[in-house]
Amino acid sequence: MHTNLRMTKQRKMILDELRQVTVHPTADQVYESVRKKMPGISLGTVYRNLDLLCRTGMARRIEKSGSPMRYDGDLSLHNHICCTKCGRVDDIRAIDLETGLEEKEIMKTGYRLIKIKIELAGLCPECQKSEDRLEPKGLG
Ligand SMILES: [Zn+2]
Ligand SMILES: [Zn+2]
Repeated sequence: MHTNLRMTKQRKMILDELRQVTVHPTADQVYESVRKKMPGISLGTVYRNLDLLCRTGMARRIEKSGSPMRYDGDLSLHNHICCTKCGRVDDIRAIDLETGLEEKEIMKTGYRLIKIKIELAGLCPECQKSEDRLEPKGLG
């Protein structure tokens, strides 16, 4: 890493929060949980630090068109599948989906991989259940 990133207490707490959860929170969600431990923190500070953590490769952004940016503190190679209904994001460990990318092939290049952009979308199990309930049959 070329930047000598000074780890402030706030930034450390935001990063810890990201690493602890698996829900891929939005900035607002990170703010809500960090605020419980550090009541004086502002949403702006959370945004700024999330941005910085992503730019320095310590966290990942999950961009999904039409919904708020989500953040991931898990830097291991993995993909995400997003629910088109509730916005939930889950991890997919296999990285060789369509591209045939192999982790060792990436390593050969000497690059530290930050992002693989394959967008997977679907209906999460919970949303499938509620779709079933809303099925019109029998309801007239
Ligand atoms: Zn869902
Ligand atoms: Zn993830």
